[in-house]
Amino acid sequence: MHKRQTAIPLVDLQSQFRSIAIEVREAINVVLDSSEFVLGGAVESFEHDFADYCSAEYSVGVSSGTAALHLALRALDIGPGDEVITVPNTFIATVWAISYVGATPVFVDVDAETYNMAVDSVEQKITERTKAILPVHLYGQTADMDPICELAQRYGLHVVEDASQAHGAEYYSRRAGSLGNVACFSFYPGKNLGAYGEAGAVVTTDQSIAERVRQLRNHAQSERYVHSELGYNYRMDAIQGAVLGVKLRHLDEWNSNRRRVAVQYSQSLSGSDTIQLPVEAPHSKHVYHIYPILLESEKARDSLQDRLSDANIKTGKHYPIPVHLQQAYRWLEYFPGDFPVAEGVAKRELSLPVYAELTDEHVQHIADVISDWVG
Ligand SMILES: *Cc1c(COP(=O)(O)O)cnc(C)c1O
Repeated sequence: MHKRQTAIPLVDLQSQFRSIAIEVREAINVVLDSSEFVLGGAVESFEHDFADYCSAEYSVGVSSGTAALHLALRALDIGPGDEVITVPNTFIATVWAISYVGATPVFVDVDAETYNMAVDSVEQKITERTKAILPVHLYGQTADMDPICELAQRYGLHVVEDASQAHGAEYYSRRAGSLGNVACFSFYPGKNLGAYGEAGAVVTTDQSIAERVRQLRNHAQSERYVHSELGYNYRMDAIQGAVLGVKLRHLDEWNSNRRRVAVQYSQSLSGSDTIQLPVEAPHSKHVYHIYPILLESEKARDSLQDRLSDANIKTGKHYPIPVHLQQAYRWLEYFPGDFPVAEGVAKRELSLPVYAELTDEHVQHIADVISDWVG
């Protein structure tokens, strides 16, 4: 009965593109006319604007969020024998980066309301090998950074933010990207700030980290054809820099529209005991990269997903297998039950459509289909 002609996607990059097509084509044309295709003026200009946006001193454009994480850990000289504390309910790239530098990921469970790092669990995981804490600002809400940074300071550890889902998110009015020693962003197309290809950035106020990342991303060249250490080709494309420069100007408006969608979902779905809605911590400005609801069980989650799919409404699961239970990390010897909150989120979470162009009418329709299912 809720069948619609047009599907409601989880994210809608086409309607966003239509709203900025002229600006984007102009910016790309400037790059084409310049023949400066890698790094160059468009990337530098975006780096400058994005550092400002994050209230940080430096931003270094790179080829992906994964590359940003890898370079941040390299710039902090984290390597074999070192441990990095992070969470198991994240996109796996957070943890790949720890493995790329040869360090060992150490997981802690997450908070049952915010799904972010459970700060109380961190201290007991610190050993003499621990070098950094790597919280993820999951779904668009920052982790509880003050106690994390305090703990890090007490033990002489670095704090690396994985801000890949949190462009513009705030913690006590401070932006994601300025909350730790160094922050990593992904501009994968579906992120709140997305390129038209692969891209990422390392953001910091520490000049030595910024300079090190700048060299490492470009084959560790101190000057042309002089390589002082193992480097990478992790440079940002000029076209991505140009696209991101245009899109950054719209980010605040898009984020406030995501918040409008979230408020409407939360109003329409409140009052149901069977659905746990996302909680915006009092200190926090959530930018709803994802609007996650938690159902009572995996079965209930999958059944609601099927019902929404029948109504032509796309949903997602972020993320159905926590990293500690992935085959790739079996050697770490974690087992089901080790991180009950993260495992519960993996089984029970359903991501509803959220993007700036989603209309009030569509949100209401989605909420009605859900209420019907609950009914
Ligand atoms: C998207 C994402 C990444 C990886 O970014 P890529 O640009 O796809 O390499 C890392 N961490 C988190 C939390 C992400 O959401």
